[in-house]
Amino acid sequence: MKPNSVKPAKPDSPLLVSACLVGIPCRYAGGNCSNDQLQTLAAQGDVLPLCPEVLGGLPTPRPPAEIQGGDGDDVLEGQAGVVNTEGKDVTAEFLAGAQKALRVAHRWDIKEAILKARSPSCGVGQIYDGSFSGRLVEGDGVTAALLKREGIIVKSEEEWEKREAR
Ligand code: SF4
Repeated sequence: MKPNSVKPAKPDSPLLVSACLVGIPCRYAGGNCSNDQLQTLAAQGDVLPLCPEVLGGLPTPRPPAEIQGGDGDDVLEGQAGVVNTEGKDVTAEFLAGAQKALRVAHRWDIKEAILKARSPSCGVGQIYDGSFSGRLVEGDGVTAALLKREGIIVKSEEEWEKREAR
């Protein structure tokens, strides 16, 4: 499918999208992971971009962080935490960012979110295992888990692209 033929899944409510996917340089290292199809939707005004980690008060750039002891659901339950490569516990910032993202989602009546794969905030279905070794485990990031709990359809950009290609 050509980028300029992309149509929003829910025309009446914007797609919530990880801000780094539409070119905003909010990744931990200061870059983005721009996705052409989502950029096209953004140019049409059909997406609402946000970065939970920045909303939670973390700076850009920032040390990378991973969930240790579980997944995003476990963080929401207080059973796991988020730690960065400097050994700092950033669980409170990740939780604050997830709650703010949820407030934005409710305010805009968001039905569907497309979030960056494998991020400790935005990851859907797979995240890094907390060892900073590149190993993946099943589970969602903290914001993805919270949005799912609230009934919002959450997909990674990789799943979304596969669906759009069909
Ligand atoms: Fe992108 Fe989400 Fe990480 Fe922000 S928290 S940089 S939106 S993946």
